[in-house]
Amino acid sequence: MSKVSENYKIIDHQYDVVIVGAGGAGLRAALGMSAAGLSTACISKVFPTRSHTVAAQGGISAALGNMGDGDHWKHHVYDTVKGSDWLGDQDAIEYMCRNAIPAVIELEHMGVPFSRTDEGTIYQRLFGGHTIDKGKSMANRACAAADRTGHAILHTLYQQCLKHKTKFFIEYFALDLIMDNDGSCRGVTAMCLEDGTIHRFSAKTVVLATGGYGRAFTTCTGAHTCTGDGGGMVLRAGLPLQDMEFIQFHPTGIHGAGCLITEGVRGEGGYLINSEGERFMERYAPNAKDLASRDVVSRAMTIEINEGRGVGPDKDHVHLVITHLDPDLIEKRLPGISESARIFAGVDVTKEPIPVAPTVHYNMGGIPTNIHCEVINPTKSDPDATVKGLMAIGEAACVSVHGANRLGTNSLLDLVVFGRAAALRAAETLKHDEPHKPLPTDSAEFSLGRLDRLRHSTGKLSTADIRKDMQKTMQSYCPVFRTDERLETGLSEITRAATSLKDIGLTDRSMIWNTDLVEALELENLMGQAVVTMGSAKARTESRGAHSTGDHPERDDTNWLKHTVAHCSDLKTIKLSYRPVHMNTLTDEIETVPLAKRVY
Ligand SMILES: Cc1cc2nc3c(=O)[nH]c(=O)nc-3n(C[C@H](O)[C@H](O)[C@H](O)COP(=O)(O)OP(=O)(O)OC[C@H]3O[C@@H](n4cnc5c(N)ncnc54)[C@H](O)[C@@H]3O)c2cc1C
Repeated sequence: MSKVSENYKIIDHQYDVVIVGAGGAGLRAALGMSAAGLSTACISKVFPTRSHTVAAQGGISAALGNMGDGDHWKHHVYDTVKGSDWLGDQDAIEYMCRNAIPAVIELEHMGVPFSRTDEGTIYQRLFGGHTIDKGKSMANRACAAADRTGHAILHTLYQQCLKHKTKFFIEYFALDLIMDNDGSCRGVTAMCLEDGTIHRFSAKTVVLATGGYGRAFTTCTGAHTCTGDGGGMVLRAGLPLQDMEFIQFHPTGIHGAGCLITEGVRGEGGYLINSEGERFMERYAPNAKDLASRDVVSRAMTIEINEGRGVGPDKDHVHLVITHLDPDLIEKRLPGISESARIFAGVDVTKEPIPVAPTVHYNMGGIPTNIHCEVINPTKSDPDATVKGLMAIGEAACVSVHGANRLGTNSLLDLVVFGRAAALRAAETLKHDEPHKPLPTDSAEFSLGRLDRLRHSTGKLSTADIRKDMQKTMQSYCPVFRTDERLETGLSEITRAATSLKDIGLTDRSMIWNTDLVEALELENLMGQAVVTMGSAKARTESRGAHSTGDHPERDDTNWLKHTVAHCSDLKTIKLSYRPVHMNTLTDEIETVPLAKRVY
């Protein structure tokens, strides 16, 4: 039988490391690996500075204490563990929060144009769930460059990569991992979007930094490119994803459009009101009010809407008010959201409230890793067993520092801290002089078989039809509030949508900028993750962080203080297992945060 790969011209490459993704995580890793003398390739389906990180608004957390509030990294650890509803690994959280301070100073020295205090230090604002001394007062911990922090960071990191001579493969779409018979990762295949050439990368280590999969839902704050391609590759390679049931809904997406209005708006003094003009968060979170954790605020808004106190003709959203803030402050600290509100809601924020609703924003779950960013595939005897030659970082990964709910500004931090950690580990374990092992035979056959099947597919459903079906299913059956019955139906509905992929039909069969083909490949990646998200959610019969079920309203530490591990290589057969949460700290300089009820 002839092989599919014989129909395609394959161009071979060899690098010590190949990073898939050029967002904040991929670029931070790339510059560190390049600087360490490793030959480093970075593949990105979009131009690096168009990665979703560019859209991050509010800030990056670090307990610098620049605003005189006595902040300390230990307060940051406590808040992050509590924010995670105790599902975050406490050793990883300690690693991230301690390293936040040098990581942000390092960004400043690299040239990130942070906003400044009168004294000339980095400006820091309030953000949800960030407190001093276990909630005694709110902490100014979010280091901000106006409301365009991700933009500032991403551009600086890209310049640093150019300085360190990272080799970029821009507008290349990574297809699949190349796995060896012993279960190790040996490289990755990719398609050049411009001319359709196929590229096979042999690497001593592949780093997945492909971002989140928000586009599995109808409305999300993420870019159209947030299709979780790394997660799709991992599932197809027979490796697991972790804690996929935990989807963060950001309280303030612009109603209808879904674009983000940063939590920094509430950090600067904005507040939410219902149709009665009431500041309802005072009832739900008497201390933190509008600056409670995101899951808490999103649930409160949903209750207000469900009980008939929403605004607008359909009473399906609430209002975010900043009309009382000084227009000069808005101009200086929140210029981006003023523009978004004008364009997407037709609102002048100095005069009118912004219509907002909870919107899918972030994936706490992802590819499980240890604190060195090495990918984990647990075995019966070792829950922390690693996969050779494979790392994951950024939103694609689950270290897990965010557990069941991420605090705002902890993602940009996760990117730079663990991007750096991956570079340190690679520098420690890889040798540039060591020759590459030959790739397994037919190493491109699997990915090209998939590409070729989609490219020549003739079914009756378009990519857009199936994608819409998947997104509507996720949006209605896996929302802020879940129930056993809805999740049960949701699982059979999402399995049906996944099965319909066999009826897909593409019209463009060319290999030059074939966006029809790329969208179909992205849809397959999204679908695997949609299926495991629903399956993992259905199994978890408790409420924790972002996973809230009406049938099991309480957190159940006796049965559920554990990470969900989901395998699903065929888009339908989900195999669930569990691994323990690391309740231990990394050093004895800090004590474990004991389990407690989570109130704000
Ligand atoms: C609107 C918005 C505002 C936010 N604001 C904040 C904030 O203020 N503070 C905060 O901490 N967090 C914030 N977040 C979250 C945070 O920005 C993201 O979690 C983070 O930027 C993700 O970074 P990343 O490097 O993991 O991935 P991304 O920045 O999403 O980059 C993914 C990269 O992978 C590449 N890629 C993906 N698939 C493929 C493929 N198949 N082949 C080749 N390349 C591929 C893409 O080209 C891209 O370069 C915000 C998120 C959004 C959506």
